[in-house]
Amino acid sequence: MTSTLIHSIRIFDGHSVLTESGFLYFKDGLIHTVAAGAPPAGLEATNTIDGAGHTILPGLIDAHVHCHGDSRTLALCLKFGVTTVLDMFSDAAASQGLKKLASEKADYADIRSAGFGAVIKNGWPGPIVMATMPDKEVARKMVESWPLVEEGREAEWITGRVEEGSDYIKLMQEDGANLLNGPFPTPRPSMQAALVKAAHANGILTVAHAMSQKATMTVLEAGTDGLAHCFYDEKPSAELVDLYKKTGAFLIPTLVVSASITGENVQDSKDILERDVVSKRVGHDEKECFCGRVLLARGGSVEHSYETVRVLKKNGVDILAGTDAAKGLHGTVPGLSLHQELGLYVHRCGFTGVEALISATSTTARRFSLNDRGRIAEGLRADLLMVKGDPTSDIGCTMDIAGVWRGGVALEL
Ligand SMILES: [Zn+2]
Repeated sequence: MTSTLIHSIRIFDGHSVLTESGFLYFKDGLIHTVAAGAPPAGLEATNTIDGAGHTILPGLIDAHVHCHGDSRTLALCLKFGVTTVLDMFSDAAASQGLKKLASEKADYADIRSAGFGAVIKNGWPGPIVMATMPDKEVARKMVESWPLVEEGREAEWITGRVEEGSDYIKLMQEDGANLLNGPFPTPRPSMQAALVKAAHANGILTVAHAMSQKATMTVLEAGTDGLAHCFYDEKPSAELVDLYKKTGAFLIPTLVVSASITGENVQDSKDILERDVVSKRVGHDEKECFCGRVLLARGGSVEHSYETVRVLKKNGVDILAGTDAAKGLHGTVPGLSLHQELGLYVHRCGFTGVEALISATSTTARRFSLNDRGRIAEGLRADLLMVKGDPTSDIGCTMDIAGVWRGGVALEL
């Protein structure tokens, strides 16, 4: 296999800037040596890259994506330097298919998946699928294919997901109170607690959908390991912050989707489409989708989400960068959306550039036990993103992509 040496480069290792000028040597898909200063004399590689003026960072991880069996979603993510995605609800067999594809070909992002989410009869996300999919017949068939959770049979339902290859469990706590097409039936708190208990007995995490502060409190009390969205209906309460701290739960904010649901941030999306990174990678329909808005909110504002993320981060809650990006979901384009999300953390939520990058690399790897990635360290996978400039001081630089490697294999840009 080939080996690569990148020298004279700024290195962000997933936690901090290791050095303003160092070198990285990787071969056979793994990081072999990383250090400050010049490479030792005699270190030879198949490819040598002068990284002056550039920064190398771990490949980004988007902690909330929906692939729905679509290989283009994984290809797009990788083109934007997102080397791993955590799918948060897709058909189980389709997810297994994508895992196989990603294991065989290096031009797709790697994927972990929740498989089917913990849906109850007539519950979320059926209503959103029916409201947003253009072909109602396809939508109905999709909704009918989901295995439903029943009261008292939670452990059995979890076993079914584990057997299908789910890497973690997606919980659903959406009553639709602040959505135009609500209300919907929701699981009882006892059901959520039973699902969490059964998931933990199987050694896997639970991540919960909730888009109101009240629903967020319910799933935190049920013991979920993390939230898949930040709510937008209210300002964060002191009780919420206490509950996050007490439970140690993490938050995947998906600010880009909150803004899409409330109809905000269109100008920010338009500005991003002006960047060079977009024209080569994103098609016309995808650009329209990026600036489109879901517009399903009954009140609320993404400003509440910004404040919540800001307060939780300040209180030491783990923030895992994630977008909810999915093919055709208004306000998103897989891969590109993560860069917008990181910009919002810095410009709206009080993150430093380093904190934003940590949220898209080492924190997610740690919380999801992805121990072979998310950091630049010897022996880890050579999943890497090289950008022009310094994203630790200007987060927008993550979009000035100069190189992407997955498992040490360079992606043709
Ligand atoms: Zn989602």
